[in-house]
Amino acid sequence: MRDTLITVTGNVQKNAWADRVLPPVECVRDGVWSIPIPFLDNPMRYTLSYLLLGHEGAVLVDPGADSEVGWRHLGAGLRQAGLAVTDLTGIVATHYHSDHLGMAERLRETSGAWLALGEHEVRDVSSDDAIAIAADRNQLAVWGVRGGMLHKLTVTSEKVAGLRGLALPDLRLADGQLLPAPGLCVRVIATPGHSPGHVCLIDEARGLIFSGDHVLPRISPHVTFETPGPANPLADYFASLERIGFEDDMEVCPAHEYRFTGMRRRVKQLVEHNLRRAAEVLEVLDERSPRTVWEIAQHLTWSRGWDSLQALSLRLALSETASHVVYLQSRGYEINVPVGARAPTPVNELAEADRGDLA
Ligand SMILES: [Zn+2]
Repeated sequence: MRDTLITVTGNVQKNAWADRVLPPVECVRDGVWSIPIPFLDNPMRYTLSYLLLGHEGAVLVDPGADSEVGWRHLGAGLRQAGLAVTDLTGIVATHYHSDHLGMAERLRETSGAWLALGEHEVRDVSSDDAIAIAADRNQLAVWGVRGGMLHKLTVTSEKVAGLRGLALPDLRLADGQLLPAPGLCVRVIATPGHSPGHVCLIDEARGLIFSGDHVLPRISPHVTFETPGPANPLADYFASLERIGFEDDMEVCPAHEYRFTGMRRRVKQLVEHNLRRAAEVLEVLDERSPRTVWEIAQHLTWSRGWDSLQALSLRLALSETASHVVYLQSRGYEINVPVGARAPTPVNELAEADRGDLA
């Protein structure tokens, strides 16, 4: 059992997590700071923003959700590292979620820093509210959401406007490239799955991996199927886990929760967790002959029970179930449950290797 456990290195963060308080700003290495930014009204409670100091500039990774309190925390964290907001020269968002780059726009306006995202990351929202809302309602209906629940779960124009308000990048980061920041030697690694163009960053000299939401120490990141979006996000996620699970000694700096070592062990846990989930989906298919994603999801185990899922959590439950259906279809299972407009991608190599576990 021991060899499957991670080693927590952010002990102060872990204690803060248990105490339900915001962890402190920490100097992780010479020139690397961890600055927690509150994520209000969300169980994740905070995003860990990382400041990387180079010879002639400073890069902030995942500035966090946009709020007045977040802005104050960020300013105070930068001051603790000896910087003002105007000293920032670059901003990197590991992916296009509001709790990671929500604050990017006003940070860019204040500092003039460039904003960079992975080359395949997309802000996928129609410029027309009515089209975006109709497409969303259609997707939910395909998954088997009916009646009042369909109305309740469908995206609102307020939400669409919020998505549209997220900052567009000045730069795109390709897999394998170094961050364009003098004095920093930080490599980009493309890790699609949690989002289509998610990236992790590796600072080999300092022994650090900035893992965004790709790998977190405690929870398994959401891998959701959305249309439009990648054809087989769960297969992408497995392949991305394999890409990052190459070693155990570097310290992992995630965007939530706390730092740890044991990336390879954590990756193993996440693969096993998702394969167990896929097996559970197969069981439901076998025993209950469900006709929709909804009918599958309601018979899966959820940490607080199916009935506790509402709004966003229910949506995520459905789109995760859909990602499993698409993945299983790509592995050759004949599943006649509609998921969306897109056909699944071919089986990837990792999926092939794991075939036995699912039988
Ligand atoms: Zn995310």
